Amino acid sequence: MSPDDPHSDLIRPDAYRPEALQRAPDFQLTLTRALLETLDPTRILYVILSGLTAGDGLGFNRAFVLLTDEGDRALRGHLAIGPETGGEASRIWETMEAERFDLNRVMSRYDEFCADPQASRLVRLVENLSIPLPVNPAGDTFGGLVHRVLTEKRPLMVNGIEVAFGPTPLSLKNFALAPLLAHSQDQAMGQQRVLGVIVVDNRWTDQTITESALNDLQSLANLAAVGVERARLHERIKRMAEQDGLTGLLNRRRFDELAQSTFQDCRQHGEDLSILLLDIDRFKDINDHYGHLAGDDVLRGLSHLVTQRIRRGDLAARYGGDELAIILPRAAGPQAHQVAQDLARATRAQNFAPNPDPTASNQLPPLRATVSIGVATAHHTCPTHTQLLSEADQALYQAKNAGRDQVHLFRPT
Ligand code: GH3
Ligand code: MG
Repeated sequence: MSPDDPHSDLIRPDAYRPEALQRAPDFQLTLTRALLETLDPTRILYVILSGLTAGDGLGFNRAFVLLTDEGDRALRGHLAIGPETGGEASRIWETMEAERFDLNRVMSRYDEFCADPQASRLVRLVENLSIPLPVNPAGDTFGGLVHRVLTEKRPLMVNGIEVAFGPTPLSLKNFALAPLLAHSQDQAMGQQRVLGVIVVDNRWTDQTITESALNDLQSLANLAAVGVERARLHERIKRMAEQDGLTGLLNRRRFDELAQSTFQDCRQHGEDLSILLLDIDRFKDINDHYGHLAGDDVLRGLSHLVTQRIRRGDLAARYGGDELAIILPRAAGPQAHQVAQDLARATRAQNFAPNPDPTASNQLPPLRATVSIGVATAHHTCPTHTQLLSEADQALYQAKNAGRDQVHLFRPT
């Protein structure tokens, strides 16, 4: 392979000039400002990875970030920046130098980065990376290094040897890892929580990582951790503001917002849209007979049953005490009727007791429930989503009056 070959493992000798790399004096400040401007988790990572790889940043060849998932079950690859081959590295660096791309310019190109197929190839490769937690120290070499970084909670570097980047087809050379540590302590463990790991390498220039580069890397990892923690907190608060605490479904306020925009969207595109209103039958009796906590189990179980049965893009919410609302975009009357019948049937068949495991000792008696469902489909004289909800409510009322445990369709006169 020649260095001119875009797939070459080597960079062209004149493409990379370390003397042209000069860290901007206010580099950390520039990054901090950019981080404070966004709460989008991916954009935050992009800012950090830009700082790690930009010539007037830390100037590493490539940078990758792995984050813990919810529940700390695994470390997963999230984002990567850098050339995939030496040939590509030569081309990128020449362009960047010719066009005087500084860190600010790189950071402002986030949308172009997202749309760039070459860049997203590398991202896709690391997105497949998943390392179960706690990391097995006896796993592959990369896993063993991650284990060390996470337990010692400090960065490490490896120079001179090539190491497979987990199960990805990528390999690292002259590389370093740094932990992303939460600022706040884990309340249960009294320790700093690990949010992820940053990996950088100099795969194409073959430059060794120095102690001072390792320190710089950890400083940026600390900044990244603040950004990630801030974005996660924001996500959690947003979710809490949109979700019902008991069932995890959308709450009524969020449902009303989404119902309105979904209704308008379907209207504009001439598509069908149906709404289901579902109410538990004689729920007061369930509470009285089995207790309020068992009633909560029924609500949770029913919500789970609904989320399992609706399509991606459908919306389910807790609309009131024992009432759920479901929007089915692009579903006409017969289809919505079928979904409702399926939900009613599944509810009838379900045991909502918390331990329905037949092998468990001290079995609770089965806890049964039924639902009544009103269905309404948008028609040309239905002007708003609130009107449609009111029609579904009328159909629900009819289902209750007709004896419960059944589905009624609203029929416009
Ligand atoms: P119907 O068939 O006519 O719907 O009879 P119902 O007994 O279900 O009557 P209704 O829908 O009016 O009663 C709703 C009940 O739901 C009253 C309230 O105590 C109960 N409820 C509301 N929120 C909760 C909750 O979060 N948990 C529990 N366990 N019960 C709740
Ligand atoms: Mg009810």
